[in-house]
Amino acid sequence: MNENEKRLEGYRRLIDIARDLASTLDLDILLNHIVSAASDLTETEAASILLYDDAARQLYFQVATNLDQPTMRGLVVPLEGSIAGWIVINHKSARIPNARGDPRHFSNIEKQTHVTTKSLLGVPLINKDKVVGVLEVINKQVGNFSDEDEDLLKVLGAQAAVAIENARLFHQSDLVAEFIHELRTPLASIGTATYLLLRPEMSEEQRQSTIRNIHHETLRLNTLASSFLDLARLESGRVQFSLTCFDLACMLDECIEIIKSTAEECSVTLELEIPPDFPQVEADRDKIKQVALNLLSNAIKYNYPHGKVVIIAGQEENEWTLAFRDNGMGIPVKAIPHLFQKFYRVQASEGKVAGAGLGLSICKEIVSGHGGTIEVNTKYGKGATFTIHIPKHKN
Ligand code: ADP
Repeated sequence: MNENEKRLEGYRRLIDIARDLASTLDLDILLNHIVSAASDLTETEAASILLYDDAARQLYFQVATNLDQPTMRGLVVPLEGSIAGWIVINHKSARIPNARGDPRHFSNIEKQTHVTTKSLLGVPLINKDKVVGVLEVINKQVGNFSDEDEDLLKVLGAQAAVAIENARLFHQSDLVAEFIHELRTPLASIGTATYLLLRPEMSEEQRQSTIRNIHHETLRLNTLASSFLDLARLESGRVQFSLTCFDLACMLDECIEIIKSTAEECSVTLELEIPPDFPQVEADRDKIKQVALNLLSNAIKYNYPHGKVVIIAGQEENEWTLAFRDNGMGIPVKAIPHLFQKFYRVQASEGKVAGAGLGLSICKEIVSGHGGTIEVNTKYGKGATFTIHIPKHKN
């Protein structure tokens, strides 16, 4: 391609992105188009978008042409002592021909990504005078970064800023609407209960039962609010996963200890099947524990008295698995495709068993943040098995 053809190709990509911007609502798809155009058009090894978290004063990777989801989830870039941070603080572009020699360069990241930054060009993503993130390209293939590279990156950066703002507004209004909808039932129930308590003709026994009802609904609201916040944070991509190597059997023993009394109340027995020489796994321990507790709690809740729950750990060459098998109510075939949707609950269990319908959505977000999958195998009336698959890290 000669210079003129290159320029035309550049314009074509910008127009394509402008069109996507008007028609695509999925933020990650849009941002992926933007980083891949940035890397191609500036002829660099890789491009990424980092978003700035005001509260934590750090940046995290939202998309990158050369990093997968689990790697990005584990990376945080501090505001102080990084080039991206310098761009955020100064509202200015940075053109760095030799990153090694630049004191602002945050080289810690390279240990995790195995990518060495030689040269770098970054522009701020600005929304209403606030920097919301940074678009960066690294390692120019030939020569140094030009003014044209910088102009092009600024145009792409402006598009990314609009996409981020649109997606945030859309997501927020969507989440708020859903949450308010879910608040209605418990609030109505508490409203009725307090009305009844004010009636002089209520017997003492009726009063006690109404107070228990208020207590129950308040607990439910509490769980709903914290699960909802957990999910909203996971969905926004702001939750960082910190990967460590740990002993799975030990973590599962802790889960069993926590949930033992609930299982006893429901007369459900718990069993753990894990080979004695099971190697350590690498993952975010607390988050995987949250998944295990959620799946265990469901396996007990949706079980019959004298039921059984078995936790089975396994491994293959590229992944390790954890299955939670119960012989409880099972799930009707027509409900299976909806199980992992927010607020979805199987009709037959609604009313009988308390729940917000968020547990499985949280599990799915955590598992996919690790690059893994979650699946269900079930026969209605005969039990269900939920299995998570987590890829092993190749070092
Ligand atoms: P909830 O808070 O309602 O338990 P979840 O997202 O954890 O929310 O689960 C969604 C729905 O899936 C539940 O309401 C229940 O109907 C069904 N479900 C989940 N786990 C099981 C299981 N082990 N056996 C039968 N049904 C289950």
